[in-house]
Amino acid sequence: MRDTIDFGIDLGTTNSAIAVADDDTVTVIKNNDGWDTTPSAVWMPKPDLVHVGRRARERVESDPENAAAEFKLEMGLADARTSFARAGVRLSPPQLSAEVLKSLRADAAHHTGTPPDAAVITVPAAFTLNQNKATTDAALLAGFTTACPLVQEPTAAAFAYGFDDADERAYWMVFDFGGGTFDAAVVSKRDGDLRVLDHSGDPYLGGKLIDWALVERILAPAAARELGLEEFRRDNPRWRYNFAKLKAAAEEAKILLSRMDQADLLVDLTGADGGSETFEYTLRRGELDATAEPFYERAINLCRRALKEAALGPADIDRLLLVGGVTLSPGLRERLADPRHGLGIELDVSLDPTTVVARGAAVFAATLRRPRTQTRVEGEFAVDLAYEPIVTTTRPTVAGRVSGPATGWGGHSVTLSNPEGRPPFTTGRIPLSDTGHFVTEVDIDKGRTSRFRVELIDDRGAPRPLTPDTLSIKHGEVEFGGVRLAHSLGIQLADRAFAPMLRKGVTLPTSVREVFHTAAALRRSDADAVIRIPVLQGERSRGERNRVVGQLEIRPKDVTIDLPPGTEVEVTFEVDASSLVTVVADVPLVQTQFEGEINLSDVRIPDAEVLETLLAETERRLDTLRGTASSGGSSDVAGRLARIEAEGTVTTAREQVRAARVDVGAAATAEERLRELQAELDDVEDAALLPALAEELDGLLDEADRLVDVLGDPADRVELAGLRGRSREAIRARDIAAVRAQIDRAGRLLMELERRSPDWPVTLFQGLREMLEPSGGAQALIQEGERAIAAGDRPGLDGVNQRMIRMLPKGEQDKIIGLVRR
Ligand code: ADP
Ligand code: MG
Repeated sequence: MRDTIDFGIDLGTTNSAIAVADDDTVTVIKNNDGWDTTPSAVWMPKPDLVHVGRRARERVESDPENAAAEFKLEMGLADARTSFARAGVRLSPPQLSAEVLKSLRADAAHHTGTPPDAAVITVPAAFTLNQNKATTDAALLAGFTTACPLVQEPTAAAFAYGFDDADERAYWMVFDFGGGTFDAAVVSKRDGDLRVLDHSGDPYLGGKLIDWALVERILAPAAARELGLEEFRRDNPRWRYNFAKLKAAAEEAKILLSRMDQADLLVDLTGADGGSETFEYTLRRGELDATAEPFYERAINLCRRALKEAALGPADIDRLLLVGGVTLSPGLRERLADPRHGLGIELDVSLDPTTVVARGAAVFAATLRRPRTQTRVEGEFAVDLAYEPIVTTTRPTVAGRVSGPATGWGGHSVTLSNPEGRPPFTTGRIPLSDTGHFVTEVDIDKGRTSRFRVELIDDRGAPRPLTPDTLSIKHGEVEFGGVRLAHSLGIQLADRAFAPMLRKGVTLPTSVREVFHTAAALRRSDADAVIRIPVLQGERSRGERNRVVGQLEIRPKDVTIDLPPGTEVEVTFEVDASSLVTVVADVPLVQTQFEGEINLSDVRIPDAEVLETLLAETERRLDTLRGTASSGGSSDVAGRLARIEAEGTVTTAREQVRAARVDVGAAATAEERLRELQAELDDVEDAALLPALAEELDGLLDEADRLVDVLGDPADRVELAGLRGRSREAIRARDIAAVRAQIDRAGRLLMELERRSPDWPVTLFQGLREMLEPSGGAQALIQEGERAIAAGDRPGLDGVNQRMIRMLPKGEQDKIIGLVRR
């Protein structure tokens, strides 16, 4: 029986693999075809018959009604379903992934004799919480009986490379370009401690996009011309088969071009008259490289970003570990090695880029103890053991607690021994405490696994059967740092700003609690009212520019009393080591404590029309900005626009929006690209706005200066000086959010000062009379106020102002109530 999980699975978009760690070696388990990797494809030729892998992959083009691939890109989306016509079923992405996992689990069973009950499964670092959750769901559906821990793909890759050579001190960068996702990670290795410093990635950047770009930009136009195909577009259902075949041909050619300068395509397509026609095309390396260029550029920019966030430069990185099928392409390798246009970091391909993730997952799995389902037999002795399965010391500690049919533990003892140790080792008899506990140190052999027998001797000196009666501890050179949170996590506030509560990069597991306040009242009489707390992941300050991964709601029926505005709401996030999250909102005011749970399975992608509108809006904004930039805008604006251009973001977004009608994965890609683009444009627009905002802030500060002179006290002077300092700093740093915040504070200080002025009630009265709707009562109040002013009657005027405030029309009450920070 294994003490540790030992199995690691790379559940890839295109290919999956399973590896196992045994004692001191890691083995990639081959599938039935004798391959190290299994294509992540499912084919259902008839009800209850499921094929996974090579055969299924081949059917994706020839039998698209009954086969599916690349479903990983749809993980975590609530509505995504794939229909299998002949089987008559519709499967969700987790169900499809489960089929792949089952197939890998069966290969493992074939290899080791029994199907593993758990495995470490890898996910892209860029995966959001709902995508991780969907992966865990898939593991359960696949029949794993014990929870499968998740680990991020680049982290796993680093673990595979970090297996030995503990003395090395180095920084590495993992560059993982797969079929559907891209991940970059900065890893540090120091004194036997291996940890990921920073991640950056794109869950929708992969070889698939290169294939489609080849189809859309080169092959489809050529085929349409040559065969006279009308309205030959990907979203035209008439041409569905042709596009599926061109996509497969494009991928095949792309792979061939890694070894040759040109590839000859021969594709049987449906012609204009419905008959079969052969389309021929010779694709050259140059064409491929030019088409793939914007995608490479984007990946490289993401690496630069990860480096910047880790406060490192390319020169600090010793090796670039290449992972994923796309890194087999010479065009990409040349580009990466180029110090000017690439990263200029030495490339390392010593481990096979297509299995390194599964290997690393197995390495990690060997450090995780398998939770034993204690089959405690009545009348027998059992022991609960606590120890680390892999350690860097040679004298680890083992603790335990014995339970069973004894009236007391006096006179009982345990012995741990390793007769095969070099030299053989035994603890001798360790007496148990009154509660049956013991703690001891054991000697283990360097660089290998040591197995111990655990024996129980009763108070009469007789050995008694004990479960478990063995344990093994491995000595390893390298210790793996914790898994980290891939994206900042928090909630959206009433003003639509993002309030991050857990920052990207914190070590998992972790939790955090913060108190917020309701922005408005929640009345039980108002059935439609709801306190809505969107849960977001991302790094942008505007809420809507981040990804919604769930939502918490508190409805009138959930509370026992009306909640006044400003009611405290305590939001707690808990993230476990697999990045699975629980979010809870407590309202302490309500006696029966209210808890809301996040529903991560409800993330949807807007439909094609919405995406089209969004695309049109984005393109308009972009045009406007291009205009500003060319008419002498700042160089910052021009630089950012150039980068958007170089990464081909708009072209990709346009293609993916068009494909969104026929491909949920494309819709998800389009949404991600557009959100990213909008956020970029926010930044560019903000940069363009800076001069005007700076001027506004200066004006406010000057006004405050004048007022402080007449009405201020020393405390005001100190505050104003501080405000000036922070404002200068914000403008210098070109930090728009900070400038806006200072404008806010300056405004509040001005208001404060004005309130102290003897003229304040008059100023307020003048403002209020403008806001009142004309009516008899209002007219009378206004006259009363004017008389009070004429008579210098200050208390009288205050009273009038109070009554006027009560007469103000109530603003349209928003039914959706958000939270605010105090
Ligand atoms: P994933 O992580 O998505 O499962 P892989 O790491 O196996 O995928 O990478 C699959 C991607 O790599 C596909 O887009 C595939 O076309 C591409 N690919 C595989 N082999 C090569 C090659 N020799 N040259 C270029 N691209 C390749
Ligand atoms: Mg991969």
